[in-house]
Amino acid sequence: MKITKVELFVLKSSGLYNNPEGAEEASGPTYMGLVKVSTDAGICGYSDVETCASVAKAAIEAPKWSSEPGMECFDGLASLLIGENPLEVERLWYRMYRGSIYYGRRGVAIQAISAIDIALWDIAGKFYGQPIHILLGAKWRDRVRAYASTLFRSTPEAMREAVHKYKDEGFTAIKFGWGVFGKDRELDVRLVEAARAALGDKNDLLVDTGWFVERTAKEAIQVVRSLEPYRPFFIEELLHPEDYDGYRKVADSVDTLIACGEQEATEWGFQQLIHRGGVDIVQPDLTRCGGFTVGRKIAQMAELSNILVIPHSWSSDLLTAASLHFNAFLRRAVFIEFNTSQGPLSRELVKNSLRIEDGFVRVPEGPGLGVEVDEDVIERYRIA
Ligand code: MG
Repeated sequence: MKITKVELFVLKSSGLYNNPEGAEEASGPTYMGLVKVSTDAGICGYSDVETCASVAKAAIEAPKWSSEPGMECFDGLASLLIGENPLEVERLWYRMYRGSIYYGRRGVAIQAISAIDIALWDIAGKFYGQPIHILLGAKWRDRVRAYASTLFRSTPEAMREAVHKYKDEGFTAIKFGWGVFGKDRELDVRLVEAARAALGDKNDLLVDTGWFVERTAKEAIQVVRSLEPYRPFFIEELLHPEDYDGYRKVADSVDTLIACGEQEATEWGFQQLIHRGGVDIVQPDLTRCGGFTVGRKIAQMAELSNILVIPHSWSSDLLTAASLHFNAFLRRAVFIEFNTSQGPLSRELVKNSLRIEDGFVRVPEGPGLGVEVDEDVIERYRIA
């Protein structure tokens, strides 16, 4: 089997991203990159990627730079893959990373590589007739507890209403993120207090403070201490993603679990976050960290350091499916992040959208990612 084509479709949902303060729900991705890798065996693999999709498309379609084997370093990602065996995921990952190294390593390049890597694992699963978690080597569980991933509301009343809405949908854990959070310390505490009161003692409350609000490590420690009475399961992204020393200070100073990693990429980046940052929970996003090939290395590093892995997974049901396979493979899994946005690119990309049952989501059973991409939806939203 050989790779014949690597494509990225730029999809656009509607207007530009717009989330006024107090919005009920994030509007979902405005633009999305949808990667499709085709083979001469008729098997195709897919992945979405949350990035600047038009730049990722350019990185994939850029021409070949070198004709000398081993000298690839400014090369378009597709040119590095055409004619290769898609089952060699590890070698092809490094071939893409090495072959784009002078313009890549992080950002769009690693995000495009991530999506291609997921698509290659999808192909491998379809080729072997096995779901990806079996190829990774473990099915520790057939369902994963979900947390509703939503935005902070702007008043305690609205927080309570939101909690009741998600509880009615079956969620037993809810994460409120950024939005109004961080602008008024006293209001922040009242919002979290209201959420905890409405959730009751048995359900879990998670907080994403968002690093867009600049904080020093000591200010972050004060934020954590002010929320500790409401027992958040974790507090996410208190600091700029590159402030590893700040994360170390915070994690060493408080009892609450400190989470970070949705912006982090590659095994080298996660090595820094784990060993220098000292966080309690890493949150790799499979479409940003380097795909399954890097994800399984992160899982091993986290296991050796005895910290948790709770993948970031927001964009679409396609990424949620990928993250469910990753969660099935983790020896200890805690949550699948479940995006509650009703944006069309979040909800319509796969034919049977994923559902919550008693607060859990089932791990897909079919070959590869185990979900079917709706090609009609690609055509409907495609702009490039
Ligand atoms: Mg976040």
